[in-house]
Amino acid sequence: MKRSIFRTAALVSTTVIAGVALAACGSGSSSGGGDGMLGAIEAGEVTIGTKYDQPGLGLRNPDGTMSGLDVDVSQYVVDHIAEKNGWEKPNVTWRETPSAQRETLIQNGEVDLIAATYSINKGRSESVNFGGPYLVTHQALLVRDGETEITDLESLDGKILCSVTGSTPAQKVKDALPGVQLQEYDTYSSCVEALRQGNIDAMTTDATILLGYSAQAPGQFKVIEMEKDGQPFTNEYYGIGLAKDDTEGTTAINEALKEMHSSGEFDKLVDKNLGGMDAVSPGTPGDLSFLNS
Ligand code: GLU
Repeated sequence: MKRSIFRTAALVSTTVIAGVALAACGSGSSSGGGDGMLGAIEAGEVTIGTKYDQPGLGLRNPDGTMSGLDVDVSQYVVDHIAEKNGWEKPNVTWRETPSAQRETLIQNGEVDLIAATYSINKGRSESVNFGGPYLVTHQALLVRDGETEITDLESLDGKILCSVTGSTPAQKVKDALPGVQLQEYDTYSSCVEALRQGNIDAMTTDATILLGYSAQAPGQFKVIEMEKDGQPFTNEYYGIGLAKDDTEGTTAINEALKEMHSSGEFDKLVDKNLGGMDAVSPGTPGDLSFLNS
């Protein structure tokens, strides 16, 4: 097991995020020959939800192609499941899934699965199933490069902080720091813009996401770790979301993720998309015991 994405990576200001074009994008509703996610893969038409504005993770490029770790991981999963079952590789339709809409889009059947920096947690597990985890990261802060006052969690008190509606970091900050002025936007890219303009003092979300933005604009921003009692402020275990009670689909995702890790493919995808960060294997896909700790 390697270390989690943060401690070594957060201070690497030259992190290069290399995105590689993958598949055509578009939007549409899911369709499947049989039930659940496996039915959609068998029918050859899968709708995958991801982010469109998070470099290195889920990004829709200006030419309409998609890139990022979540794009590659979810593409690997559906292709692997198709191959194992002797089905053709499915046609993938990409769908943007902002943080606050993920459970709803799964529940409405508008996407078959979601890989979108999607932390597995108890609340979400009541409305959707999760395959994974496939990566663990931690909540961090992004500030302007010249920032001197914000150095840690406590120094946020009284500052204007941005995060995204429906995200775990927004909720955790509200709980831990009632004195912070939290502004919630729909997307992280709008937080980055507000930070650049000086309208907010800092933004908070997963280190992976912040390192992606920081790498995209060298010299403009810096990433700061958040700790509580010497430990990372949060652990964010990324999962692949799918319909509640789609047990077969969940098992198939976990088998694909196990293969992705054991074959070394995951490390390659991390190098390709999050160059400079440590690859992270958070444990065995399907083992959600961290939810109880
Ligand atoms: N991983 C966190 C979450 O699922 C933050 C990133 C995001 O909003 O996508 O809420």
